[in-house]
Amino acid sequence: MCAVLFTETGLLPIKYRRAILALHHAKYWAALPNDHYAKAAYLSSLQVSAAGHVSWASDLRAVLGSFPIPVPCSVSALEPAATIDELISATQLSCESTLQGQLDRAERTYMLRNRLEMGGDGKMKTVVLRFREYLRIVSVPHRKAFTRFLLSDHSLAVVALRYPGHYRKYHVPRAWRLCRFCLLDVEDESHAALVCTAHPALTPLRVEFLRDIFALKPSMRNLAATRSADSFLGCLLLDRTVMTRAAKFVHDILQIYDTKEMWVAPEHFNLDGWQE
Ligand SMILES: [Zn+2]
Repeated sequence: MCAVLFTETGLLPIKYRRAILALHHAKYWAALPNDHYAKAAYLSSLQVSAAGHVSWASDLRAVLGSFPIPVPCSVSALEPAATIDELISATQLSCESTLQGQLDRAERTYMLRNRLEMGGDGKMKTVVLRFREYLRIVSVPHRKAFTRFLLSDHSLAVVALRYPGHYRKYHVPRAWRLCRFCLLDVEDESHAALVCTAHPALTPLRVEFLRDIFALKPSMRNLAATRSADSFLGCLLLDRTVMTRAAKFVHDILQIYDTKEMWVAPEHFNLDGWQE
């Protein structure tokens, strides 16, 4: 799943970037005086494309039409600079919609759905492509732990048992990826961070963490009281005010879980009644 490489760093996938650069070239040529050689060549390319033959403009139209969310582009739309601006915006939107769709469909990126960030206009909205604030966390171990936690690439059972491994050929349904300490619930992110009390170090760590974030952002206290563990965790991980502290907390939680071997349901548990 490559989409996160772009949504979390703000980089455009190369095929969209090349198409937008080509459209900027087209906009420049379209704005030149009619007696300019480059403008004449550009208009000639448009005429050839309009006649159904191969030209630079035909290639550009084919590329725009080949995206997962196609950008319709007529020959006439490539003539005035104003409509070329609309094509540039449509290409950007096509890219963002495609990437956000991949995040929304992927099981591992569930924490990135419905993510709101401050836009350039000062309003909270979905920003699909951006270099994310958590990538600026200074402590490398904390930043790595936080990133892996957010993107479901960590050592908790909900992820580690998702696919059969070298020493385990059978599939473990999600409902049986139980917490290695309490065996009472699925060992997922919210259980480890906010729910489980079966390891003696978890509760003091959690109390200290909550005390710190309530001091940093008092409104978090209300969220903690009213939201589910999953929802509150999502708020914690995506709030810039508490992000650095949350990264340390996530790092420490994962270290506690790493002190014990994961519990793996034996194969003979694999009954027909298991559901994913
Ligand atoms: Zn537990």
